[in-house]
Amino acid sequence: MKAVVYKGPNDVSVEDVPDAKIERPADVLVRITSSNICGSDLHMYEGRTSFETGRTFGHENLGEVIEVGSAVSKVKVGERVVLPFNIACGFCKNCERGFTNYCLTMQPEPKLAGAAYGFADMGPYQGGQAEYLRVPYGDFNCLRLGEDAEEKELDYVMVADIFPTGWHATEMAGVYPGDSVVIYGAGPVGLMAAYSAIIKGAGKVMVVDRQSDRLKLAEQIGAIPVDDSKVDPVEFVKDQTMGFGADRGCECVGYQAHDPSGNEQPNLTLNRLVDSVRFVGGLGVVGVFLPQDPGAPDELAKQGQVAFDYGNYWFKGQTMGSGQCPVKKYNRALRDLIAGGKASPSFLVSHELPLDKAPEAYRNFDDRVDGWTKVVLHPAGS
Ligand SMILES: [Zn+2]
Ligand SMILES: [Zn+2]
Repeated sequence: MKAVVYKGPNDVSVEDVPDAKIERPADVLVRITSSNICGSDLHMYEGRTSFETGRTFGHENLGEVIEVGSAVSKVKVGERVVLPFNIACGFCKNCERGFTNYCLTMQPEPKLAGAAYGFADMGPYQGGQAEYLRVPYGDFNCLRLGEDAEEKELDYVMVADIFPTGWHATEMAGVYPGDSVVIYGAGPVGLMAAYSAIIKGAGKVMVVDRQSDRLKLAEQIGAIPVDDSKVDPVEFVKDQTMGFGADRGCECVGYQAHDPSGNEQPNLTLNRLVDSVRFVGGLGVVGVFLPQDPGAPDELAKQGQVAFDYGNYWFKGQTMGSGQCPVKKYNRALRDLIAGGKASPSFLVSHELPLDKAPEAYRNFDDRVDGWTKVVLHPAGS
């Protein structure tokens, strides 16, 4: 089968690799019709992780079931399914408590938790930027779609990661109807966090970024765009909230945060978040931070350490949630919002491309070329 293969920093190619197949009785085999390129693919693409050369990216996947193992009882051949980027067993201590993002049995490294398709440090699983994908524990990990699956495919594929991840940021921040919310980062996840806050009935949503195409999308869904290359976002948010700061804040940038002139500063958005959220406000951090970052510009950051303004955070009595999203906690509900016509997260898709165009798509998305807000690859030419 054809798949996107990681060759080394800033280099992917589309190559023939061994076909994905059923390996265990609980597996499901999916013909991938849509697989997104994600911001976390870019961390790996740039060589800023331990992702091994020769492996395939792709953790935001949707497709058609073409074969099921002998122990699969719910999922049927021919069904359209969207797959949480987390691969989870459903029976370990963490899965039982709903933390499928930190599954203990799908992660082979005993000191780690959590597994995903085509992801650094998250197990050996191949990604879905390929014609076929093996889904372990298919009954648990497949979310089945209804008759509108093809018509709304671009909406449903966002349920694999970014829509639930954005929603999770607002859950951890504690967004409640009427709240004022500030969101750092208007990449796909930041836009999904803004969209989620709006769906939840937030009174005012402010989105901080500096890319005009992204800010335009934020405005289009009813958020206030804040260009941090032109204004101080902390002052802006305070002005908008009678000096108090926003009720809730979400960090959707991560460790490669940088100032408008391009200097990396991993604490930039975190400290601005603390500063622009009010006393006893809630923070949700879904931007990626890592325990080590050998490619970082300074010593502290190389060890995964961030000069976090803990004093201010403690003084303000804020609370913070962090980490990857347990997609299964939300995906059914978000699917049903889409099915019911209450959400249409595909508004951020700028490009739909065949698998062959992946190298060019990675280059443009990684260079933040204007207008490349979200790329969906269609391996099966759907
Ligand atoms: Zn993703
Ligand atoms: Zn588990």
